[in-house]
This record gives sequence, structure tokens and C-alpha cells, in this order.
Amino acid sequence: MNSIATSSTPIETNGELELAGTSVSRGVAVGKAVCLFGEKLQFFRVDIAGHDLQTEIDRFRAALNAAKYQLNQLTNVSGDLPPSASGIFDVHLMILEHSSFAEGVENYLAVHLVNAEWALKTVSDEHVSRQSSVTDQGIGERYIDVQDVAERVMNALDGSDNSTDFLTENAVVIASMVRPSTLVELSRHRPLAIVTEYGGWTSHAFIMAREMRIPAVTGIADIFRVIADGDLLLVDGYNGKIILRPSADRVSKSENVRDPVQDEILIPPGHLEDPRTLDGHAIVIRANAENIESAAELHLQGARGIGLLRSEYLFGQRIGSFPTGDEQTRAYSSIAKLVGENGLRIRTFDVNADQLSFSGSGRERNPSLGLRAIRLSFADEENFRTQIRSILRASAGNNVDIVLPMISGLYEIYRAKNVIENEKTSLRQAGVEAGDPRVGVMIEVPSAVLMIDEIVKNVDFVCLGTNDLVQYLLAVDRDNGSVADWYQTLHPAVLRSIKTVIRAADMADIPAVMCGEMAGSPFYTPLLIGLGAREFSMNLNAIAAVRNVIAGISFEEAFDLAGQVAAASTASDVEAKLRQFYMEKWPHLFESNLRIS
Ligand code: PEP
Ligand code: MG
Repeated sequence: MNSIATSSTPIETNGELELAGTSVSRGVAVGKAVCLFGEKLQFFRVDIAGHDLQTEIDRFRAALNAAKYQLNQLTNVSGDLPPSASGIFDVHLMILEHSSFAEGVENYLAVHLVNAEWALKTVSDEHVSRQSSVTDQGIGERYIDVQDVAERVMNALDGSDNSTDFLTENAVVIASMVRPSTLVELSRHRPLAIVTEYGGWTSHAFIMAREMRIPAVTGIADIFRVIADGDLLLVDGYNGKIILRPSADRVSKSENVRDPVQDEILIPPGHLEDPRTLDGHAIVIRANAENIESAAELHLQGARGIGLLRSEYLFGQRIGSFPTGDEQTRAYSSIAKLVGENGLRIRTFDVNADQLSFSGSGRERNPSLGLRAIRLSFADEENFRTQIRSILRASAGNNVDIVLPMISGLYEIYRAKNVIENEKTSLRQAGVEAGDPRVGVMIEVPSAVLMIDEIVKNVDFVCLGTNDLVQYLLAVDRDNGSVADWYQTLHPAVLRSIKTVIRAADMADIPAVMCGEMAGSPFYTPLLIGLGAREFSMNLNAIAAVRNVIAGISFEEAFDLAGQVAAASTASDVEAKLRQFYMEKWPHLFESNLRIS
């Protein structure tokens, strides 16, 4: 369950400012604020050398030309639109061609020697604030056009020479929200911590931050008004707060602490055993992964293969344009080889249209209810087929399965399986080796729970994606801290859904894998086992703690617990019952750790 993510009033003492938020990844860090801007492409200020100035000017000019070209195209096709539409594009072209705007950006670049993104943002911000302060309504509202144009140029800067490649040392990344693909890019430079305005425990960026053990705090309101580039700050990812401009005394007393991996396991090759409950029942633990590095070490950490590969993150920011089939085959094959006989389950791309330069859609108001995951794959079937072919090729001689995301019923299963069979046949006819991957689906949409009896007859396994299941079942945005209170993992409807799915999978004799963040929290482990879960897939860092809990409980007790909880009518009632049960039966396991996440 997420805690409330609203910021309280900042408290100022002796020049220090304390801001309260919500912890989304534990640890402590002291560092300098590096403000990250932009939505589609995220960037921050980078100081460039004098000899790189021309490169930045050329990048900016190329983006400007691309933006002008797009606007000319739009003017040409706007014949059917009302005259005001082409009028708007004309104004936008005028801003780019005749105003002081472009000149201003080039001057800024030359004087301040910074990256093009930063110069563009600073100059457009100045234009916007100048125009929005004009009281004449007609002129004043022009600032919206400047914003619009600047965003178009910014998007055109996308791709080349991504400035997130140059993160300074001791950086604490400050952002309104962090895109997971940005975090993948940033991870090469290991920011010390992340602080954002928006996000939740199950936001992908924070799932990854926990995996990388980067402390993170979210829910800091008006973040760019309170924190400026270069500010010194202490991030306390244990207590969900930050101290802006900490005193020298406090800094000298604090240490940078990454959340320790609980007792690293380090199991030598050939010795991996599934954890067992006290009464001898084995539970399978697999790993969730987003990159090849975690594949290399997961066996040592006690995971039996990869239960969920979020394939969309393997290729970093490149997801803006799909990776080629060969690139994908190489990536999937090398991970499959590292994982070996324990197996790799590859989830097909789970992105939304906004994360791609996908021509078939405009900006969506509700991306998580929009053209996301399997829906986007069907809308852009050529790229889906490319991914399926790559997985089929990687599965030849390797233990590889396919997982389909955001399935709402049987239609998507029939259609996707049809594509898989088609591609298998054509690869084989062309003399290319293709394996026979098992096909599973993510159960994360309520309609899939209601259709589960039919679904289990048509797939080889099901994966319970509780991050999304909670979001869709309770109609609460998983990335929106202001409704975090409503994101109730222990809601009786969630628990009933989990039970229904596991029971249907058992009846059909196929595995049901718990693979949302719930699976990696030891607090939920006994309850999930009591609800029938036998297979988990989780963040590598969570495995030691979950294995420990499994080894300390019995099946019978877990069933008893699930039975008691079934009578609870609200999430807080369930939580109270869990805490009471844990304190009575397993104080040694939970006394020092009754943390929910
Ligand atoms: C889930 O929804 O629970 C899940 C595992 O997938 P993701 O977090 O990638 O949406
Ligand atoms: Mg999901």
C-alpha cells in the first residue's frame, strides 16, 4: 500500500529547509541538485567546452529546420481545418523565422556555453514570462504559442547526442517526474539520489531506483520553485524527507547509505534450491529484470531464472524508435544464455504511444487507458511481428517464454497467438531456426480476472501484475502521489481477485506467477502463500528477505491467515489483522520489520 504523498509545509531552521515527501527507495545521500527538465526527452544543464559550441549550434539549427518543416507540412494539410488552425501554424512559423527567438537561443549558447536543450529552455522561459505578464489578453496569450513552438523544437532535438550522458558527480536528480528510460540512461553515471514531485511506489522509475539502490523521495510539491540547480541537499529515503541547504555539521555527520541488500545470498552455480516453508513446501522465486546486468547475477541472489523481463527498457531511450530485429535477437539470446535452463520470460513491449514516435496517435489524455502494451503492438503490427520473430529466434535452443501485457480478454490472446504461429511458420520456411516458446499473459485488467476461467484454457501460464491490477481494479493512477491513499494493495477486492486467478490457474494446472511489487515485499509473503501463490517473480534486492520469511512460516499458518483476512471488509481492517497475526505467530520474523513495502 502506498502512503500519502502530499507535502507538508516546509520547516525552516537555521537556514536549513526540511521538506516532507514520501520514500520510494530507501537510503541516504548528500549531493548537489541537478534539475531535470522536459517530458518526452528529459535533459539537464551541461556545460560544454568552447570547441563544442559549433556542434551545439548545428544541433539547434537542425532541430529548428525540422520544426519548420513539420509546421509547413501541417499548413499544407490543414485545408480541411478551420482558418484559425492554419493561422496558428503561421504564427508558430513566424516565431521560428522572424522573431528574436532563434537568435536569442544562439546568443545564449555562445555566451553561456551550455547544451542546446538548456539554452532553448532558458530562452523560451524568458519569452514566456515576458509575454504572460502583458495585460493585453490577445498579446499575453501568445506565450502559449511560444511554449508550443519551443516544445516542437525540443522534440526535434530528441535522439542526437542525448545530454543525460553527462551527469556530474554527486548529482541528486530533481525532476517533476522521471521517465524510466531516462533513469536507464542516467544509471551509467549513478546519481546519488532522486527527488520528484510526482510518482508512486509502483512507478517504473522507482521500481528501477530500488533495484539500483538509489535513494528516492517523491511528493515534493512545486519542486522547481523550492530547489534550484546546484543547491546542496540531503535526501533521506528512509523517512521520506529532504533537507535543503543542510548545515556543515549535519553534512559531516551524514553518510551516503544505499539501502543494504539484505544479507547477500551468493549461491554457487549448481546449488540453487527453492526456498521451503517450515512444513516443506517449495516456493519458486524468479527475478524481474530490465537489463542484462541483473541477468548475470540473479542465480547468485537465489532466483530461478527471469520471471518477467520488461523488454521495453533493454534498449534505453532508443525505445523512441524501435530497435531492429537483429538487435533484439542478440539481446534476448544473450540474456537467455546467461539465465540457462531456469528460463527467461520475455514480456513484449509494454509502452504507451506517448513513449514512442508512433505516427498513428496524437498525445493521449489518459495514456494508461490508451494505446498501451498489446494494444499498441496490434496498432503497429509490423514492429510487434519483428519482436515476436526476435523472441522466436532467441528461443531456439533456449528456455524462453513470451508474456503478453495488458490482456483484457480472449481476443488479444487469439490474435497474438495467431501472429506467433504465423511468424514461426515463416521463419521455419525460410530455414531460420525458431523455438516453441510457451505463451503466458499478464493478468492486470479487471476484465481478465472475470474471464480467467476461459483465459487459463488458452495460455501456458499467467502472471499476476498487481501493480496494474490495483490501478485498474480500484481506478487509481499508480503514478499519482496525490491519490496514493487510494492505492490499496490490501483492498479486499484485490485479494479476492488474486485468489480467483490462482484458483483458476490451479484448476487448469498451469503456473500463476505473482510478479508485481507486492511479490517482493516480505510483509505480503505469508498472505500471498495463504491465497495459494507458489511462484513469485521480484526485484533482485527483495529475494533474500522474502526467502527468509518463507523459511520461517508454515503452509497451515498461511492458510489460517488468509482465512482470517477473508472476513475483513476494508484494506485497513486487512492490514490490522495481518499485523496482529504476525505479532502473535511470527514475532521473530516481523518484530523489527513491519514495513509494508
Ligand atoms: C504489474 O503491473 O504488476 C507488472 C509487473 O508490470 P509493470 O509494473 O511493468 O506494469
Ligand atoms: Mg503492468
